[in-house]
Amino acid sequence: MNDKWRVTKMQAEQMDPYYRDTWVEVNLSAIEQNVRSLSHVYKDQNTAIMAVVKADGYGHGAVPVAKSAIDGGATFLGVAILDEALELREAGMTTPVLVLGRIRPMDARIAAKHHIAVTVFSKEWLVSAKEYLDSSNPLTIHVKCDTGMGRLGITDPKEIKEMVQIIHGSDAFYLEGMFTHFATADELDISYYQEQFQQFQQFINQLEEENISIPLIHCANSAAALRFPKRAFNMVRFGISMYGLSPSPEIKHQLPFPLEPAFQLKTRLAQVKKLEAGKAISYGATYVTEREEWIGTLPIGYADGWIRAHSTNGGTVLVDGEELPFVGRICMDQCMVRLNSSKEEGTIVTLIGHDHGQELSMDSVARRLDTINYEIPCIISKRVPRLYFKDGNLISVKNQI
Ligand SMILES: *Cc1c(COP(=O)(O)O)cnc(C)c1O
Repeated sequence: MNDKWRVTKMQAEQMDPYYRDTWVEVNLSAIEQNVRSLSHVYKDQNTAIMAVVKADGYGHGAVPVAKSAIDGGATFLGVAILDEALELREAGMTTPVLVLGRIRPMDARIAAKHHIAVTVFSKEWLVSAKEYLDSSNPLTIHVKCDTGMGRLGITDPKEIKEMVQIIHGSDAFYLEGMFTHFATADELDISYYQEQFQQFQQFINQLEEENISIPLIHCANSAAALRFPKRAFNMVRFGISMYGLSPSPEIKHQLPFPLEPAFQLKTRLAQVKKLEAGKAISYGATYVTEREEWIGTLPIGYADGWIRAHSTNGGTVLVDGEELPFVGRICMDQCMVRLNSSKEEGTIVTLIGHDHGQELSMDSVARRLDTINYEIPCIISKRVPRLYFKDGNLISVKNQI
């Protein structure tokens, strides 16, 4: 068994105790480096980096990711919902934060109180939110333009004028930003991206016509930030690639610097047994050994986010650098793999990440489930403790149960 890991586990239990042999390793140095690499792309222009840490930092852990991103040069944070912004504030972070989704008008005062900027996409929202605000604590807002994503945002550049009239007619608001979001910036065919960009330009022209100046104009997600830095205005919203993942497999070869993945998922063999031919494995007895086989039981299941499709879609793990298949159905808390030989119980099993020079990448795991890399770390549940490493050393642990 790996002694280095035993030492790490003892340290981890002093930080935030957990008593299971399944864990996520998050390499914070990789996150910091990915942000730093992006800041080099922008070194000759005045473009800020917003680190997008919604959904608990894409499953990595919002607070430690945010801190590492700031160390790497990010100066803004992005989240999806107000509760996520408040989590950052409760952790003592004072960096500007923007909520990218809708908040309720009745919660505007809480956002203002904690200096959290919010996304606005209609006059009606402004009118309702105003009732909950006062001028001693103005709410910072970014106007969202829908240029073709069809999600949140105003669709007509002319709406800007009326919104700005409401905003400037009240000292309850501070207009800090205007932005849009691309639907296809990660595709090889850039025609729709270009249409959206031109549409966004119409909104900007409208501001100029009305003599309205807004400090922050932003449109780029990771894909656009990496591919089209000349069209980034003064902020980019860096999400998936901050975590070291390509926005899509197609554009992987177009990226301006190598991305370093930060997330690994590991467990240990709970039991190893030799079964003779004709023995069934797991619920439904769908897998039957063909010959004498070594079967390893892993203490991870669908309640950890390791969903049943991993076994039905030909999933594998790494054990001592060998790639081995799941057999039988994945259960709520456990699942089984077929080993090539006997292995010591407690041997480390890699579900995502590196093992003895081999790699099971997030992209390969996503492809197997017919989904995108974004989804995989997000669904690894809170039951799996996150261990944070910096420069190869364990620095903190988050166990949320
Ligand atoms: C999630 C999100 C981002 C980040 O996108 P990535 O593709 O992960 O870089 C940027 N902007 C908005 C509005 C988002 O919702």
